[in-house]
Amino acid sequence: MAYPIRDFTSRIRALVLKRSIDLVEQAKVKVIDQDSEHAQFHVENNRDSYYHVEVRLNRGDVTFTHCDCPYRGVGLCKHTGAALLHLLVEDGFHPHDFEADDFHFEDSEVVDMDANEETFHKLIKEISVDHDFELVRFLSSQPKDQLLTFMLKYLEESEDIRLVVMAYLWYKSQNPKPPFLS
Ligand SMILES: [Zn+2]
Repeated sequence: MAYPIRDFTSRIRALVLKRSIDLVEQAKVKVIDQDSEHAQFHVENNRDSYYHVEVRLNRGDVTFTHCDCPYRGVGLCKHTGAALLHLLVEDGFHPHDFEADDFHFEDSEVVDMDANEETFHKLIKEISVDHDFELVRFLSSQPKDQLLTFMLKYLEESEDIRLVVMAYLWYKSQNPKPPFLS
């Protein structure tokens, strides 16, 4: 699922990309927090407020994006597009450098991340009911440090799992222990 940051234009509709460019050119994108693997942004909306965008990177490839706006159309929202474009601009790119190929007017030309995710969900469901493939036995036969690395990576990428772990640590710290999630 990781892709070079310059390729984000294949995951966004042309009209949305144009709005992303406007947002960057009007300086509506603010970096809140940034290192080589992670960046957080506030992107202004038209209600004197902002949306929060999170981007994760691995050696310059985008591995994860999230925006808390309500956009549920095909491809990335304009805020995520603006955040990724902002990173490119920091690296010396100029919106004038976009070419006709960057603008996808047909929805079918846009790589749909949600569709990708749906495929994954289907696959996970399939794994969970495939009795010939013993997932738990397979995992328990793997080297422990490899499994732990995998789990840590998963923790980094999933807010839900982080919350569960935090809840568990809180639960462990309580004495006497309250009934969990009652
Ligand atoms: Zn958004």
